Parts: sequence; C-alpha cells; structure tokens
Amino acid sequence: MAVVDASRQSPATRDLGRTPDSKMPKTHKRSPGLEAGSWRLEAAKAAQPLRMIAWEVTRACNLKCVHCRAAAVDTPPPGEFSTKEAFQLLDQIAEFSQPVIILTGGEPLLREDIFDIAEYGIGRGLRMVMAPNGTLITARVARRMKSLGIPRVSISLDGSNSEIHDRFRQVPGAFDGAVQGIGYLKEAGVSFQINTTVTRRNLEDLPRILDTVRKLEADAWHVFLLVPTGRGKEMEADEISPEDYEKTLNWLFDGQKELGLFIKATCAPHYYRIFRQRAKREGAPYEVPTQGLEAMTRGCLGGITFCFISHMGEVYPCGYLEVLAGNVRERPLEQIWRESKLFGDLRDFSKLKGKCGICEYKKICGGCRARAYARTGDYLAEEPYCVYQPKAEKG
Ligand code: SF4
Ligand code: SF4
Repeated sequence: MAVVDASRQSPATRDLGRTPDSKMPKTHKRSPGLEAGSWRLEAAKAAQPLRMIAWEVTRACNLKCVHCRAAAVDTPPPGEFSTKEAFQLLDQIAEFSQPVIILTGGEPLLREDIFDIAEYGIGRGLRMVMAPNGTLITARVARRMKSLGIPRVSISLDGSNSEIHDRFRQVPGAFDGAVQGIGYLKEAGVSFQINTTVTRRNLEDLPRILDTVRKLEADAWHVFLLVPTGRGKEMEADEISPEDYEKTLNWLFDGQKELGLFIKATCAPHYYRIFRQRAKREGAPYEVPTQGLEAMTRGCLGGITFCFISHMGEVYPCGYLEVLAGNVRERPLEQIWRESKLFGDLRDFSKLKGKCGICEYKKICGGCRARAYARTGDYLAEEPYCVYQPKAEKG
C-alpha cells in the first residue's frame, strides 16, 4: 500500500460520546453484525499482521482539492485527538503491531504537535511517514523531518504545471508551493515520493507529470486511480473509462520496467492482474528479484494488512470505503483489527461476488471494494472498472 495521498481527507465529522451506530452519518454504514458471534473467530483466524495505518491526524487543510474524499475544513473540527490521546493511540498500536504510520489529513502540518506525535511514534519503534500537501514545508520543517528520522514524505502533484494542478487543488499557488516544498525536502535530504490522482482532467498530462517526477528526482511515483467518494463523488464523470484504466495501467507497467523509477499503481487492484499477465506474456518469471516488491503484494490491502483511522478515531478498511469497523475511542484497535466482521469479510476472498468472485485473479487483485461499494452499496460486489473477463465467465 502506498503512502496515502495527502489530499484524501477524512469522512464527515461525527459527534463524540455516542454509540458507534448513532455517530454514523447515513452515508456511512456500520459493518453488519458487529455484535454477532461465530464470525469473530473466523475474522481473527484470517487476521494478518497490521502493516500500515493511514491516520488522519486532522481534517483541517489549507487546500480545497476537488477529489478530496470528504470536504476538508479551514479549522480543526471539535473532537479531534488531543496530543495525549494521540500518544495513547500510538501506545495501543505499538502494543500489538509495528505498522508504518502515515500521518495524513487534512494537512498534517497544521497540527502544532505533529512533530511531537511523530517523535513519540518513532520512540515506540514505529515507522512514521508523512503525507503533507507540500505547501507548508519550509527549510526548517524539512530539517526537522530529517532530524527526527521521518523516512519518507509523499507530496501530491496532479498536473505537470500550475494551471492543471491548481485547478484540482482550487487554490492558486498550490503547485509552486508543493514544488518549493519538495526543494526543501531535497536540500534536507528527506526521501520523498510524488502521488498523482488520475482523472479525465489529467489523463493526457500523465507523460508530462512523469517527466516532472523524474526532473524532481522523486524516489517513487504513486499513481492513484480516482475513487468517487466524498468530494470525489461529484467527480464521477471525471473518472476515466475502464478501457483507459487498462491502458493507463499497462503504460505504468512499461514505465516501471523501462525507467527504473519505482512506479506504483495504487488503489488500482487490477494492476496486479496486469502485472502477472504481462510478466507471463513476456516470459519474465514473476519473482521478487525480477519484479521487485510488487511480486509480494496484492491489489487491495484494505482491511487485510492496512486500515485507516479518522480524525475522530473511526477505523475503516481504507480512507475510501465508508463502512465503519469500530472506533478506537470505544474498543482497542487490536480487537477491531482482529474481530471486525467487515475485516473478516474482506479477508475471505470466497465472499467476493460477480465476476470478481469467479476470477482466477481474485487473490492477488480482488477489485477495489470502495468502488464496488460506491457503485452498488455492497462492498463485496464486483469491481465496476475492470474490463477483464474471468476464464470461468468465458466458459
Ligand atoms: S478498497 Fe479500493 S480504495 Fe480502498 S484500499 Fe482497496 S483498492 Fe484502495
Ligand atoms: S474481475 Fe475482479 S478480481 Fe478479476 S481482475 Fe477484474 S477486478 Fe480483479
């Protein structure tokens, strides 16, 4: 799983001190049977170690990105975690796992205690990475990141120039600010990756964005396919077609192979199907030495080795699948991770429906559960943006 795009904001704010059900807005369903029985054992049996958490430390943001998963706000909403609560959450996490923690938002640098939080997590042996939008990175901030030992920072660029990028971010100067921030990271020697969300608006610009990524000497390029949730819902018409999706993923595969730059298609699970199809067709053995770390992972990791924690402590499979697994203010994260029915469902690939359910690639791809949910209201339904016809369907 990639370092999450800083532009992907939290779900809608919910009140404090109510039960999980009453806290959820109508659009956020609770996972079915949260209090039920036998699935708990099944979910726990299927639980793998939690390897990565995207933690939305605040919803406040200084940009207004059009594809934001939920509208960010200018000032932090009431009820966000205090420093003490943030430390307690890190303690909770460190007691049962050692995941990478992505400090995301909103804009994480808007939290005054962000470096205290990062330092505390590092002290607990956690790998703390950051996903700011870049515009608030100064020389001093970059030096602080370096001295603390932040191993990787992700910055989003959704266009190769200010005209395209700023239109996405809806704030003039966002592109220049991000590029300047990247400059400071480079000066300070902080590793950085560039994240790009692909839509119809920047599809044609992708080769130029790739040039920009190379010119800026990023350590990696993570390309996200739009998931129409939150503010992105209004952008459903901007989602590229399944055919363009396929072409883009093949193009990314070529780029990865030819350029030696680490390119990762993120939240595009069928990249892993394409990866195997191409490797097979081209006679390249699908092994770690040949295909790098891509060979070791899987398309969608939401609820499997990854989860998202909102600014209010709600736990979701990822920042886009708006089905609640629990709240760390009410139940320990370990319990949610091991026992949630939702996570149990996502870990059981035999529950997948439609063509994903019969697909020979379901274990390594599985389709995007958030896109399926956004389209049908069923997170186990087939991925609506895949052109592949499984062998079993062909008959
Ligand atoms: S459900 Fe979709 S958006 Fe969420 S982690 Fe899986 S692929 Fe990514
Ligand atoms: S049908 Fe589903 S599991 Fe198969 S490749 Fe497409 S998205 Fe993946």
